[in-house]
Amino acid sequence: MSLTEIRTRFDAAVAASGRAAGSVTLLAVSKLQPDAKVLGALQDGQRSFGENYVQEAAAKWPAFRAQFPDAKVHMIGPLQTNKAKQAVEVFDAIHTLDRASLAEKLAKLAQARGQCPALFVQVNTGAEPQKAGILPDALDAFLKDCQAMDLTPQGLMCIPPDAEDPRPHFQMLADMAARHGLSGLSMGMSSDFELAIAMGATHVRVGSAIFGARPTG
Ligand SMILES: *Cc1c(COP(=O)(O)O)cnc(C)c1O
Repeated sequence: MSLTEIRTRFDAAVAASGRAAGSVTLLAVSKLQPDAKVLGALQDGQRSFGENYVQEAAAKWPAFRAQFPDAKVHMIGPLQTNKAKQAVEVFDAIHTLDRASLAEKLAKLAQARGQCPALFVQVNTGAEPQKAGILPDALDAFLKDCQAMDLTPQGLMCIPPDAEDPRPHFQMLADMAARHGLSGLSMGMSSDFELAIAMGATHVRVGSAIFGARPTG
């Protein structure tokens, strides 16, 4: 696979879903990928990226941004509260708002800075004990808490359980977002991004299908 191939499939899926070109964002997930590959994607016109680690993103993106000032970087990995300050400085969006303590910290930072990255609430649609995210039952209360802190998430994000049909999870996320009037839906990865687009995704997170397998530790 390559960026060009994925772009073609992405554009076709957006068109097939009857949605406007530009209404869905392809996030190229560049975590752990060599800089040369990320640079190649930037040179090929890719501007939206996903990263999982604050430290890694803080180390590599300032130099890329100097060359490509319109590049956007989205945090899609778990965010420790003690890295929130650095995260709001590095990222344009955070897809992993998953607990009240993090919301409180982000609200404080937003107030101090007068600005806040776009926020997505991660929902644990499979109610998996080992997985981060707000449980579906707790979403209403969590969004109320956010509102009380003057935090305004723009959407929801999910990572469906491995080896399960993602459809019911994508549907649940879309239904919850609609119920709360949230326009953003971050769902779909290398193996299922076309399905996610058909089901309403506004942001798909595609890593290995664009860049190849990630180098392991
Ligand atoms: C790594 C990662 C991706 C990209 O996964 P691929 O299977 O390589 O497309 C998407 N979303 C999240 C949350 C990730 O951590």
